[in-house]
Amino acid sequence: MRAFDYQGSSAKILFGAGARTRVAETVAALDCKRALVLSTPQQADDAGVIVALLADRAAGLFTHAAMHTPVEITERALQAMRDTGADCTVAFGGGSTTGLGKAVAYHLDTPQVVIPTTYAGSEVTPILGQTQAHRKETVRTASVLPEAVIYDPELTLGLPVPMTMTSGLNGMAHAAEALYARDRNPVSSLMAAEGLKALADALPRIAEAPHNLSARSGALYGAWLCGTVLGAVDMSLHHKLCHVLGGSFDLPHAETHAIVLPHAVAFNSSSAASELRPITEIFGGSAPGVALHDFAVGLGVPTALKDIGLQEEDLDRAADIATANPYWNPREVTRADIRALLAAAWRGDPPTH
Ligand code: NAD
Repeated sequence: MRAFDYQGSSAKILFGAGARTRVAETVAALDCKRALVLSTPQQADDAGVIVALLADRAAGLFTHAAMHTPVEITERALQAMRDTGADCTVAFGGGSTTGLGKAVAYHLDTPQVVIPTTYAGSEVTPILGQTQAHRKETVRTASVLPEAVIYDPELTLGLPVPMTMTSGLNGMAHAAEALYARDRNPVSSLMAAEGLKALADALPRIAEAPHNLSARSGALYGAWLCGTVLGAVDMSLHHKLCHVLGGSFDLPHAETHAIVLPHAVAFNSSSAASELRPITEIFGGSAPGVALHDFAVGLGVPTALKDIGLQEEDLDRAADIATANPYWNPREVTRADIRALLAAAWRGDPPTH
């Protein structure tokens, strides 16, 4: 057996239909008295329900969370923490709102509860991505790992189907790269395979019946596992490419992951053949990139970067940025290979292996 290091997460996980009703007890268990509830403007009404559930443990509601955690919004949230006398946050929403809670914790070291409503997985990682003047920086520190996460699948019933599919594939991307991570361990590999299996089972069922609570529960369970491995082991080529495309070309986060994943896995498939075997076992076929592509096509998600805003003339610059600094990947990364991978993903060509 390979040697490995293992570090369990200290986060408390509460999972189940209706678990949102435990938000006040969760805040109290953290020895906190007044929580500032965070959301995007789009989810303000549903976040109001969380404020009501918190009752006298609610300090207020801040509804200005935005994609990529702009520092200007964080400064406003920090002011709201001071104005309301809040001693913790409850982030209600997807990765953008979770990011704001993490940014507040980064500055104030305040405890965080997260109630995720997408499958992005940020709630169980010690990673904060934030933007200032259109530059995205990533910080990895235990102080931004949320103390408690409440997974309530009832809160995901209304997540629109297209977002459900791309967000689920975003989660799957964490697990796919965890399978071949250099610092993987037996537990991260088990969680990654189980997370992929849960999402492989749930997403087609949700596409057919978006309000199927059992399928929604399975997807959220998979998202928890996939997010946990993102927080536990190092990511490589796929996440690097998505970071470049989101950070430098402003492409939408979940759709970018959904499109790039089959290509990145196909690229690595010859160098990580045995590590990627769970993918063909779960999705069928003999080639993991092809299997993931076919699964994504079946879900009706976009498959070409040209359809989500990348221009053909951006390909050279994207390849330059993605190969400017060396990083570990199971297969050696060259500029020519990455240019070819990005071009195939831009056109929407199916991978061949
Ligand atoms: P998001 O949080 O930006 O949400 C997209 C939109 O969907 C928002 O308007 C949101 O309010 C809405 N929405 C969310 N849940 C909904 C629901 N159940 N019903 C209806 N509308 C809903 O999208 P995301 O993909 O979850 O998060 C993307 C962000 O998270 C990116 O900034 C990305 O970098 C970050 N992220 C960070 C990590 C990490 O570990 N640091 C991991 C994954 C993603």
